[in-house]
Amino acid sequence: MGQKRIISAWIRGGTCTEPFAPPASDRAWRLVLLGAPGVGKGTQAELLSERLGAVHLSTGDIFRAAGNLPPEQRSAAMEEALGYMRRGELVPDELVIRLVEERKACLRLPCGFLLDGYPRTVPQAEALDNLLSGEGLALDAVLDYELPLEVVVQRLSGRRMCAQCQAAYHVETLPPKREGVCDHCGGRLVQRPDDRPEAIRVRMEVYQRSTAPLIEYYRERGLLVTVPAEGTPEEVFERSLRLLEQNAAGATRRG
Ligand code: AMP
Repeated sequence: MGQKRIISAWIRGGTCTEPFAPPASDRAWRLVLLGAPGVGKGTQAELLSERLGAVHLSTGDIFRAAGNLPPEQRSAAMEEALGYMRRGELVPDELVIRLVEERKACLRLPCGFLLDGYPRTVPQAEALDNLLSGEGLALDAVLDYELPLEVVVQRLSGRRMCAQCQAAYHVETLPPKREGVCDHCGGRLVQRPDDRPEAIRVRMEVYQRSTAPLIEYYRERGLLVTVPAEGTPEEVFERSLRLLEQNAAGATRRG
């Protein structure tokens, strides 16, 4: 099953109909990516997915796709969730946990996964542990991308996305060839509502309060791999791979 089809099943909430997809690399990686908004987690997830063959699954993508639907096609629960998202707040645990539970077929595929944006709170991490152990699976590692706050704010406020194909740009560091127009598909570039300065402030506070405790949660379980996120996407990617391999080698020795 192609990654695109798995991602589309993940976003729509349908089941993955071909659960026996072969692993794309010699081993299946099951990873969680942590990091404040703007650390470059999404870009790293794409690069890691290409190299490791694990499918990149983002809970934010589920909400963004729902936001692009005509209002009459959104459920009341989804409409409520989108309100939280627009304000930069976290969607309540109960709803996100249910959405992921409904999509668990995407997590048991033999190609492995890279979870981006989930879990975001300790209750979500516990729910993920339960869900995976129910499937006889376990996480290999949790990559935590770290960057100073002022760099994060500068990155986020300049970020633009193509309204059509979701390609990412930055007004200073990765501008499109023509201002406001996507290089890939000619779509219009927009600022995510939650990348506006007032929403960024809320998201950073939310991250500190809710997501930072996850770092301790995963450190205690021996899964945490801290990745300094300074440098170009390629540098951070190479660093991620090196640290991941080191951690896997350490786990083999420890195990
Ligand atoms: P992201 O693209 O991961 O930054 O997610 C965008 C927004 O979707 C977040 O600011 C939240 O409002 C919502 N969201 C995504 N994933 C979660 C989650 N695991 N828990 C709660 N809210 C989430």
